[in-house]
Amino acid sequence: MCLPAWGGKAIDTAKIAADRAGLPAIIIPTIASTDAPCSGCAVIYSKVGVFDSVCYQKSNPAAVLVDVAVIAAAPTRFLVAGMGDALSTWFEASSCDRTRSPNECGGYSTTAGLHLARLCYETLLKYGTAAKIASQRHIVTSALEHIVEANILLSGIGFESAGLASAHSIHNGLTALPETHAFYHGEKVAFGVLAGLQLTDAPVEESAAVFSFCEDVGLPTTLADIGLENVSRESLMKAAEKACDPGQPIHHEAGRITAERVLDAMLAADALGQARRGR
Ligand SMILES: [Zn+2]
Repeated sequence: MCLPAWGGKAIDTAKIAADRAGLPAIIIPTIASTDAPCSGCAVIYSKVGVFDSVCYQKSNPAAVLVDVAVIAAAPTRFLVAGMGDALSTWFEASSCDRTRSPNECGGYSTTAGLHLARLCYETLLKYGTAAKIASQRHIVTSALEHIVEANILLSGIGFESAGLASAHSIHNGLTALPETHAFYHGEKVAFGVLAGLQLTDAPVEESAAVFSFCEDVGLPTTLADIGLENVSRESLMKAAEKACDPGQPIHHEAGRITAERVLDAMLAADALGQARRGR
């Protein structure tokens, strides 16, 4: 038996149940921790929390209703994890655009999809820190509203319309390591973004901007931050190999992607994260 992911667990379960019952799904999220609410797919994990597959429904939820006051009352770590998930949207979308890779619906991104993904990233940079502060005080502010839109709507529509790439594949690979299971989807995805930027030779300034954002809002920037303090190269290789499974969207990145390159990208992101902390 398999279970949907922590974070989007209840939502993904509802989507599958509604699909099998032939009913429309109406989603009312109480936290903004993933891009699950608006998407039509559900992520399936094994009973012990290892990524298994993605299950597609016949249609997306019929409606998604969000009360920002409810989101504001939830623990801040959920909102921050949602920002980590949303952080991947633009980078994965632009990788798919660069290589003309398919989106999550089996088609190709439109310009609108790409722009929504970009807007998602810009919204995070602009309002992320202020939204986190509002969440810590459990107050509804415009910044929090913008981030709720980014985490739930822009990220959901963005990834489904414009495609996935290295960040989510690295997340999926990391689930092979039990030490990471206490960490939320978006927290591991955020580290996947940082590693993905190393993998794809992103401009140094771009990588630095993403590190700064993660540091500001409290997203992981080192392996230790996702439970892998003393991880061995062999153990991390298991995650890298899983990230490179043939069906993984990491192959939407340009060039030939190998487990060795992914392993080195994760270690490089970790080294940079540690070096920045020591400054
Ligand atoms: Zn995600």
